Amino acid sequence: MYTFDKSLAAFRRAQQVIPGGIPGHLGPTEGLHLPNDGFPKFATRAQGARFWDLDGNEFIDWMCGYGPNILGYNDPDVAAAAQAQAKKEDVVSLPSTVMIDFAEMLVDQVASADWAMFAKNGGDTTTLAIMTARAATLRKKVVFVKGFYHGVAPWTQKLDYPGVLEEDVANNLYVPWNDLDALRTLLSENRGEVAALISTPYMHGNFVDNQLPAEGYWQAVRKLCDEHGVVLIIDDVRAGFRLDLAGSDHYFGFEADLICFCKALANGYNVSALLGREALKEAVSSITYTGSYWMSAVPFAAGIATQRKLRELDAPALFERLGTRLTDGLTEAASEAGFTLVASGAPALFYLRVADPADSLMLHQDWIAECVRRGAYLTSHHNHFLNAAVTEADVDRTVEIAADAFAALRTRHPAVV
Ligand code: PMP
Repeated sequence: MYTFDKSLAAFRRAQQVIPGGIPGHLGPTEGLHLPNDGFPKFATRAQGARFWDLDGNEFIDWMCGYGPNILGYNDPDVAAAAQAQAKKEDVVSLPSTVMIDFAEMLVDQVASADWAMFAKNGGDTTTLAIMTARAATLRKKVVFVKGFYHGVAPWTQKLDYPGVLEEDVANNLYVPWNDLDALRTLLSENRGEVAALISTPYMHGNFVDNQLPAEGYWQAVRKLCDEHGVVLIIDDVRAGFRLDLAGSDHYFGFEADLICFCKALANGYNVSALLGREALKEAVSSITYTGSYWMSAVPFAAGIATQRKLRELDAPALFERLGTRLTDGLTEAASEAGFTLVASGAPALFYLRVADPADSLMLHQDWIAECVRRGAYLTSHHNHFLNAAVTEADVDRTVEIAADAFAALRTRHPAVV
């Protein structure tokens, strides 16, 4: 059974000089790794579908760096493209034409897109999308779907969060997921005032079973947005390219006005992109928006190699097949041990919840920790991610680990069995 002594010592060291030790979503609390001492904190090496931690433990990684690892860590084709570009140039006083190559490729590939603007983080693109919608419509209000996550800019946060002003969120309106009546009412009540609706392509929120769109939902949302002159923004930062290389709006049979990508664009090289329709090109061009590293050429070259390989592999079909094999195996292992495990969302980004006999967050976290101690890197209360380096043997080994973890859970929680 794995131990994490070196990781924990490094974490204590980090806490002295870095607020929170590991801030943000890779940290022990926001990263939802609880219980804290049951998890590694620092990695030293990653290859394919695996990484190794500071204590030398090896993991089959089902988190993929929270999404960027889509082909496998250190993919040789992406690494070669990035290294070849790095030898020529990266951050220079002028951009490289590789930026145009990447934009052309994405505009060709993503069904709803006529142009692409590049940045670094997913949050850069969601913010640019909101500003573009406001610039185009000259309206202030934005509709969010409850349970959303669109980054950390003040407009994406909640009123009671530290550092957030009333003004930051004063124009935010909220509707429940899959609730067309609520959306219809909200848009009527705010007629002529709503600039945009921003949503992920399906509800992949934390702490809840993930929910796919109801039949006809997106087509009805598209129609309502058209009727009310509302810009429809799809935040595909997390799901992008795991469901459909033409965009998750394409997967669900509709077209967004603006679509945000980041995580899976370049297999870990740092680039994000806002793509959009011709009608919004002038509005997006009018906005003051840039960053020191936004035109660095290496991630563009990596992105081109990544997207090319995803197409060659037909990666979304691979993710669907392996993700289904895994979630079927895990739910079966649970029921053999007398538990019910609910898998939800798309198989490429599956979400897990130990639901029965006791639908308890702690029981779920204990099971996840038992899996991690045995070498399957899963996490609690957040969706997971598939990558193209995963093999059937990795899936089957993970199911074995999960079965052992359920057996351990039964011993530690005899009352709930
Ligand atoms: N939107 C969604 C749906 C996300 O999952 C994330 C990142 N987890 C973001 C936006 C923000 O992206 P970033 O952290 O790169 O700014």
